[in-house]
Formats: sequence, structure tokens, C-alpha cells
Amino acid sequence: MEVLIDFIPKQVFYEPDALNYPLGKKLIDYFQSINIPMKPTTSHNRVVGIVGDTPQEAYKEAKHTLVIGVRRSKTFQTCKPSAHYQLPLATSCPGMCEYCYLSTTLGPKPYVRIYVNIEEILDMTKNIIESRAPEITIFEGAATSDPVPVEKYTGNLRRTIEFFGREPLGRFRFVTKFTDIDSLLDAEHNNHTRFRFSLNCQYVIKHFEHKTPQLLDRVIAASKMLKAKYPIGFIIAPIFRFENWQDEYTELFVLLEKYLYENMPPNWSPKDLTFEFISHRYTLRAKSNILNVFPKSKLPMEEKERKFKYGQFGYGKYIYNPDEINELKEFFLNKTEKFFPGAKVEYFI
Ligand code: SF4
Repeated sequence: MEVLIDFIPKQVFYEPDALNYPLGKKLIDYFQSINIPMKPTTSHNRVVGIVGDTPQEAYKEAKHTLVIGVRRSKTFQTCKPSAHYQLPLATSCPGMCEYCYLSTTLGPKPYVRIYVNIEEILDMTKNIIESRAPEITIFEGAATSDPVPVEKYTGNLRRTIEFFGREPLGRFRFVTKFTDIDSLLDAEHNNHTRFRFSLNCQYVIKHFEHKTPQLLDRVIAASKMLKAKYPIGFIIAPIFRFENWQDEYTELFVLLEKYLYENMPPNWSPKDLTFEFISHRYTLRAKSNILNVFPKSKLPMEEKERKFKYGQFGYGKYIYNPDEINELKEFFLNKTEKFFPGAKVEYFI
């Protein structure tokens, strides 16, 4: 049976300006009506009042906090290599993955933020698309968040998918671990949105991806999107080496094969699938943040077992050794071709 991971915040902060937007007003009225404690905040970027006696408590408190804000920045960040630009619909997510790639950027209190000025955000998107015509412009909706857990409150994802459905030169893609996607099934996507699921083997989900749906539930959700004729794809990340990693990751492909072929629409071919693979890596800064919040973490982060690689912003990361990465790469490329012949592997790093 599907375990629904339902995000209900314990407290809500809102920027008073959010009340000037219909979505902001609707949400603030809604949280008031169900008696969730609410407080104004001057900026969604700097929220004070998320407390906790220890780093672990503060982190948990933040993950149960929703901030309703207005996104004022007039530019979108670039988003290489998966897209041209980020499209910020939300920041952070209620999941508690130990390795979360946002833990370094969002600091020790990664509270969940949503933006209510969606029309302005989509107007900016339109301007960018038009400025690059006749090129196609691709936007990534999950660069700073997992946008699905807050969709039931905002409807922003559906609105964005339908916006791109009407844009001949715009494409949208995002990735999620969450499965509450039924409200998106009949959105008019016009094949302009690629819906990617972030998957991992059961072992990794159980040990490191707390408060996120199980593998089977994610695979079922992906098969529903496929049936709804969305272009779909998978990010398998981070890939870990551990005892039995081959068996565990093979099981993942077996499960995916079963559900996708059972639910594929007529004329679908595995050639329409995309895969992205990311082997585990960490920086010393991320390691120290992770151990602050998860002091008993079993994430493999032993510098002596890894190769140090200089990063582009002056800090280095610890990756698996080249022969280990080659073995992983060969394994995943072979499995992809065996189970989904012709599927596109966008990258393996
Ligand atoms: S689901 Fe994604 S964004 Fe959320 S905690 Fe996990 S890795 Fe981070």
C-alpha cells in the first residue's frame, strides 16, 4: 500500500506582501482556518524564530516550517548542464535526506519556502524564452527544491506545466522523490515537460532518505505519469558502493521494467526515457554540516577511501576512485541498455 508522505507544516511564516497576491491570501486564510500558528516575517530569505536546542532539533523544526513569500529577484540563475535556467517555484523540501545537495547552500535551517507571485515568475520566464527565440529554452524546476510536496497548497507546478504546454519554444523539467502527483496527471503538458523521478535502491532509501516515499511508490508514480503520456526520466543519485550494491541496483531496474512496460501508452518506446547518473561525492563542508545534523550518519565519507577532485569554485570534493567509478558506470550503462534499449543516458558523473 502506498505510504503518503503528507507535508503539513507545524508553523507558517508569511511576508505581509504575500497578501497582495490571490494565492498568498488564499494560503494565509487556509492555514489560519486550520489553526496552524502563523507569524509575519520581513523577508523569506531571513526568517528568525525557528528554534531548537541542538542542530538536530533546529533542522527538524525548519523542515516542519513553511514560509510564504514573494520572489523579487528579476533574474533566474543559469542551470548547466541539465537546463538553461533555474525556474524557482519553491526552496527546500520536507524530506530529510542525509546527503541532501541543498544542505550546503541553505544553511543549518533549510525551511520550506513557496512563492505566491507565480504569474510574475511565469512572465519573466516568457520574456527569457522570447529573448532567445528561435532557440528552445529549457528551465529546471527542481534546482533548489523538490516542488511536489507543496503542490497541494500552491498548484504552481500544474500552472507552470500548462504554461509550458502553450509555449512552442519553452521546455520544462523537474525532478522529485515524492508521489503526490495525481493533480498533475491531466495537466495539458503538450510533451513540453519532462517529469523525472529521483530513485535509489531500497538500502539507500532506508538508511539515508528519511521522510521520503519508498522506491515502489516512486516507481508507481512514474508509471502513472508515463500512462498520462508525459515524457519521463530518472535520476539515480547518489549512487553508493556497499556490500551487494549490484544486487540492490539490479532490483531497481527489475521493478522499473515491470511497472513501466505494464503502463506504457501505445507507441511508447524506451528510447523516450532519459537517465542521469550521479555517483556519490562530498565536500568537507558538506560532511561537517551533515554530521552536525546527523551525528550518527552511516554515509560513507572517509577521505582516505576517496579521490580528491578540485571543484570549480575553489573547494574540492571527494569522489570514488577512478576504477570504482568506471565499474559503476559500466554497470549502470549496461543495465540501462539491457532493460530499456535505446534509452538516452544524459550523463554519468
Ligand atoms: S528530497 Fe531532494 S531536496 Fe528534499 S531533502 Fe531529499 S535530496 Fe534534499
